[in-house]
Amino acid sequence: MPTRRSVRRVPGVRGGRFAVRDPATGQEFDTAPDQRADELDAIVDRSHAAWRGWRADPAARTTALLAAADAVAAAGPALAPLLTREQGKPLAESHAEVARTAARLRYFAELSPETRPITDGRAVRSEVRWRPLGPVAAIVPWNFPLQLASAKFAPALAAGNTVVLKPSPFTPLATRRLAAVVAEVLPEGVLTVVTGREPLGSRLASHPGIRHVSFTGSVATGRAVAAGAAASLARVTLELGGNDAAILLDDADVERIADRLFWAAFRNCGQVCMAVKRVYAPARLYPRVVEALAERAEDTVVGAGLDPDVRLGPVNNAGQLARVEDYTAQALAAGARAAAGGHRLDRAGYFFAPTVLADVPPDSPVVTEEQFGPVLPVLPYDSVDEAVAAANGTGFGLGGSVWGTDQDRAAAVADRLECGTVWINHHAELSLAQPFAGVKESGVGVAGGPWGLYGNLRPFVVHRLGEARS
Ligand code: NAD
Repeated sequence: MPTRRSVRRVPGVRGGRFAVRDPATGQEFDTAPDQRADELDAIVDRSHAAWRGWRADPAARTTALLAAADAVAAAGPALAPLLTREQGKPLAESHAEVARTAARLRYFAELSPETRPITDGRAVRSEVRWRPLGPVAAIVPWNFPLQLASAKFAPALAAGNTVVLKPSPFTPLATRRLAAVVAEVLPEGVLTVVTGREPLGSRLASHPGIRHVSFTGSVATGRAVAAGAAASLARVTLELGGNDAAILLDDADVERIADRLFWAAFRNCGQVCMAVKRVYAPARLYPRVVEALAERAEDTVVGAGLDPDVRLGPVNNAGQLARVEDYTAQALAAGARAAAGGHRLDRAGYFFAPTVLADVPPDSPVVTEEQFGPVLPVLPYDSVDEAVAAANGTGFGLGGSVWGTDQDRAAAVADRLECGTVWINHHAELSLAQPFAGVKESGVGVAGGPWGLYGNLRPFVVHRLGEARS
């Protein structure tokens, strides 16, 4: 009897496409192209060819990027539900993400680098001009697929570079749709999306034709990306993980701030790089802070993001859910108390109950690492020095916040935090015009505002002899 050869199949991959799951059900609902790493040579070549025309005409770039912003805004009704379907976030947040993507395109479309003369007092006339770098690799995670993609491609394109964009395999669909909308108004090859599983990202990061690798993701992958980019000595910008602390001072008005603090931790199901991931409360206020946050966790409507009543969706993927569950279980086993939640929800999909943990040992992974999910440890402190030392005591340095009625006192404490952004009485809000940069393991390089534009440019200096010596 003839035997059939057994074919080893990768789960979820068929006919050159991979499965995309709805985190609210855990079920596959669509597929995306599983592009191979060896396709990148031709893609990067096309990107390089498109660069010649794109870099030449700043006025045409402004016009095209403004048209792209309008096209994205108009595509919101199609983009937002697709984003919710693959990412899990509530539909209102997906609409906000699309709006922010359009706003970012508009902001960078109208930004241009400044050519200026420089002098050191000698009779030499120098001028600093700015030149684009070439094809940029933009590699992004699954928590804000559109917003983070635009945080890379808007400044890179405005600066006169072309972009090869790789979304996470968990969220490729809305990004493909977004790029199709944007590419419609841009010259061929200026913005290209590639989708697929590793080693697509690592090959893109180390591709010799790429001149800037702009990466957002975890610290571990960031290290691998930097090592890969070292092969071609491409510039790297790394926006990595965070473990932001919120320090409440003893004059904090708990009732007044509780909603803001809760949502700074739980928005997008806690899957925000600069979410509040630890709360430090003075011993006197501690019981009430735990209780106020737990009440809000219990009251939050959790469910599929397409349901208009839902405020908190599922965790994005099974691996991330397992991590959240593991960190929570380790904390509980070490003596922590779940003031709210503490477990998965008994339903299909990747749902975890919004969880507030009290009495957590400070060396628990849920405190020292990035949980990136709907779980918030609350820790008591006796002195502000102790709280500041704890806040600064991890390898991360993305953001932090201080909360108190006396704003000047809160600002003085915030000044002691080792991170890129501090907030007073709120957290995790960014302006398009501000620099965004992590310190320590949270990042390398600067994104956002004019700094983000210059991060995609190189100085080009024209150095002339002064009049007297010419
Ligand atoms: P991740 O590092 O696993 O993946 C990020 C991207 O890199 C994905 O597109 C992935 O496919 C790709 N990738 C995976 N391996 C690669 C490799 N070897 N070389 C090149 N690319 C590779 O991160 P994630 O789980 O998708 O996202 C969560 C992380 O992102 C969290 O740590 C979060 O804090 C961080 N993040 C940071 C910021 C920021 O601005 N600092 C913003 C959002 C998210």
